[in-house]
Amino acid sequence: MPLDEYRKKRDFSKTPEPAGKAAKSKTHEGFFCVQKHLASHLHYDFRLEHNGVLLSWAVPKGPSLDPSVKRLAMHVEDHPIEYGEFEGVIPEGYGAGIVMLWDRGTWTPEVADVDAALAKGDLKFTLNGYKLKGSWVLVRTSGRYPGARRGSGRGEGATGSGDGRSWLLIKHRDEWSGDLDITEFSPKSIKSDGDLEDILAADTPEVWRSGKPAKGGAAGAMLTAIIDRAAQPKAKRKPKRTR
Ligand code: MN
Repeated sequence: MPLDEYRKKRDFSKTPEPAGKAAKSKTHEGFFCVQKHLASHLHYDFRLEHNGVLLSWAVPKGPSLDPSVKRLAMHVEDHPIEYGEFEGVIPEGYGAGIVMLWDRGTWTPEVADVDAALAKGDLKFTLNGYKLKGSWVLVRTSGRYPGARRGSGRGEGATGSGDGRSWLLIKHRDEWSGDLDITEFSPKSIKSDGDLEDILAADTPEVWRSGKPAKGGAAGAMLTAIIDRAAQPKAKRKPKRTR
């Protein structure tokens, strides 16, 4: 079951988070999104709709439009379709942090059999988003990737390389490739046009509850404090000091 791992990490009896239904999709064009996620580390969650779930990779540096740049993409657990439009705050537990909908659109596989391509570790596809377009490939790596650490806990269940979770996200050369740094050039949300601070400071930020406790640590505690404050109604917060 594709969502088993996702469900395992969350206790739906304790949270209003939707459990997610694995719906069948027969069209070859599917939803895709990239969610910029400030958790213990900033990363970009790259998600492709397939067989009723969102296949997900955590990309620490985000996508690059430069075909010579290979971006590490840690394969993480499938997410429910309804998470794909989410932008807001995960106040506590697993994935705690701020989520921005950085890009969204449709994707089309450039192969006849997506499951076979995934099993082979070589999925070519075309994106039609606001920021990301044209032809791309996700390639699974077999060896260790420089900088990847086993068991670092980065990016939603990523456990390091050497276990089949390390992929590379690479842009193919076409009219949409180039040396423009897309994460720098276009850092904001395509949903709200806000940055991460704007999302936190919204009057009523959307909240996504995760049932699984996060690991401790100073960074996590600090983030939890920031998010708790942001999740309170604005009126309850102290007014900003002006000078
Ligand atoms: Mn994430």
